[in-house]
Amino acid sequence: MLNDSVDSIKGVGGKFTEDLAALHIYTVEDLLFYFPYRYDVFEIKPLRELIHDDKVTIEGKVIHQPSLTFYGKRKSRLVFTLEVENVAIKAVMFNRPFAKKQIAPNDIVTLTGKWDAHRLQITVSNYKKGPAENHASIQPLYSLKGDVTNIKLKKAIKRALNDYADQVEEILPESYLKSYKLPNRLDALMTMHFPANRTELKHARRRFTYEEFLLFQLKMQLLRKMKREATHGNAQQYDSKKLEEFIDHFPFSLTAAQQRTLTQILLDMKSPYRMNRLLQGDVGSGKTAVAAICLYGTVTAGRQGALMVPTEILAEQHYESLTELFGERAKIVLLTGSVKGKKRKEILEAIEASTVDIVIGTHALIQDDVFFADLGLVIVDEQHRFGVEQRRTLRDKGLHPDVLFMTATPIPRTLAITAFGDMDVSVIDEMPSGRKEIETYWAKENTLDRVLQFIEQRITYGEQAYVICPLIEESDKLDIQNAVDLYEQLQAFYPPSIHVGLMHGRLHSDEKEDVMKRFAANEIQVLVSTTVVEVGVNVPNATIMVIYDAERFGLSQLHQLRGRVGRSDKQSYCILIAEPKGEVGKERMRIMTETNNGFALSEQDLKLRGPGDFFGKKQSGVPEFKVADMIHDYRALETARSDAQEIIEVNALDNDQEFANLKTILVKVETLFNKLD
Ligand code: ADP
Ligand code: MG
Repeated sequence: MLNDSVDSIKGVGGKFTEDLAALHIYTVEDLLFYFPYRYDVFEIKPLRELIHDDKVTIEGKVIHQPSLTFYGKRKSRLVFTLEVENVAIKAVMFNRPFAKKQIAPNDIVTLTGKWDAHRLQITVSNYKKGPAENHASIQPLYSLKGDVTNIKLKKAIKRALNDYADQVEEILPESYLKSYKLPNRLDALMTMHFPANRTELKHARRRFTYEEFLLFQLKMQLLRKMKREATHGNAQQYDSKKLEEFIDHFPFSLTAAQQRTLTQILLDMKSPYRMNRLLQGDVGSGKTAVAAICLYGTVTAGRQGALMVPTEILAEQHYESLTELFGERAKIVLLTGSVKGKKRKEILEAIEASTVDIVIGTHALIQDDVFFADLGLVIVDEQHRFGVEQRRTLRDKGLHPDVLFMTATPIPRTLAITAFGDMDVSVIDEMPSGRKEIETYWAKENTLDRVLQFIEQRITYGEQAYVICPLIEESDKLDIQNAVDLYEQLQAFYPPSIHVGLMHGRLHSDEKEDVMKRFAANEIQVLVSTTVVEVGVNVPNATIMVIYDAERFGLSQLHQLRGRVGRSDKQSYCILIAEPKGEVGKERMRIMTETNNGFALSEQDLKLRGPGDFFGKKQSGVPEFKVADMIHDYRALETARSDAQEIIEVNALDNDQEFANLKTILVKVETLFNKLD
């Protein structure tokens, strides 16, 4: 059986078994599907094509007896001459004295090693007697631990393949193999470990890439279906007339993209299924307006709505703007960690008694003592900052509201359909009209005075600026010290007529609120701040964003910060002060200066950082694929997704014998359900 313990393979036991366990190889199947992480391809090329310092493979005839010299403690050097294409090549082999006996004049040998083009010399790392068989050999390289060597592992895999091959079953339907021209599972498996040539290997990888994607997408689609079915009976009968009247009184008309996404969300709310939707839109694309309309929808349906945001500043800001926007239409309260004592008690009672329609707050609004009378809709802003835990808490409270996640970190499509494959996705892909592109510059520290003068000049035009402080990663305290220092420095630099403000996470919430209010009212012209203003903060009159130590931020975060400006029809500027040391850092600065488009940027970010890092480790929810690469293989991913959708839609897993093996694998989906919710 494939799930026999690995030590049932001949030659596997004792310490070797332990070492394999350290690699998470416990069963025969684990071993068979332990794929190489890389392949070395040795290919014989004409001498003139060899590149200096590259690892190369050559084949030739030995023309002199090798000479061996010893030096140091047990060190040796073996030198011999080789004729390749009528040229004499010197071969040097270190610390393999035994090779002297194996290599004799007139032998044909194949050598791999580092090429020195100036001396026509190869430093051999690998040699083989005889000619290279097919002028290309592909060596799989496995990740190793303990005493496991590549050779030992290959031996064990070879045995396992010999003894268990007949048990490796196909799981993909025959018709799929045919139409995608994929090798069958066993052939592909053998090729992964013992590839004969590149073409074969390519197809084997293509097969496992598709298999991994399809399995994953099937799980996602099943989950989505289960979630939908589990939440039947949740239709919200909102009042369209009232919504229209509400929208009419906005100071602007909705963009086509806002309208489209709004329709999608409202349809979800009206449907009997619980909504599980992600709303993506670049910073400033107007998600908050859409959110407000949806919240009003819930209110007109006689239920309560909640808007959950990641920071207190943002909660307060939303509270103010929504209170103004809603007027008498809804009773709105603010519930954050700093609402305490009697006030908190009153608010909690009102929420429970249903005299409150909309609650805006940080995660404080999902704490144990908060009971909603009838929660119809929850909107989670900047959802990537929320832990999976917090999202679950809400649902564990016996509440089954429609849930809308909003994010301004545009998630590349590849990630969206993997990490969020079980969600529906709406995208606002259009900016309100009249916006100008933010001009972004990359400046060195020694140009700082000019930057500060530039700010001063814009202030004379009535505009305002953010200055984001240098970042010290390990320490919140030092960050604040930096902010204070910079604040004092700018105060000294500017005339008294220019008011400099200071904002950081340790300020009391009253103080924060006060600073933000004064900045919004243009009583403060320059706001020195830590990254607490990163998300959502909306002061349209601010047109300059200066970011210190910009090289320490990821692209998405820089884009978020930049999104604090460019929120009106005035020309805005973003100045990145950075002295990046590495290439990645420089590349980031270049990308920032070249693109304003959040989606393009996040695709680049994904490439620079890799999928695991994109959301931060903890809550990534991005699966680790063995063979597949979400970025390179995105076409296969798209194919797998639409195949999975079709399979689930027509219920092929239950109805079609061809899918029986796939179904067997997928029964474990229940556990996944718990993990992902
Ligand atoms: P987001 O939350 O997506 O970053 P906001 O909802 O904060 O964006 O909107 C940014 C700014 O654009 C706000 O000042 C908002 O009033 C304004 N706005 C939103 N929708 C429109 C629109 N359709 N036309 C003009 N301005 C808009
Ligand atoms: Mg927002």
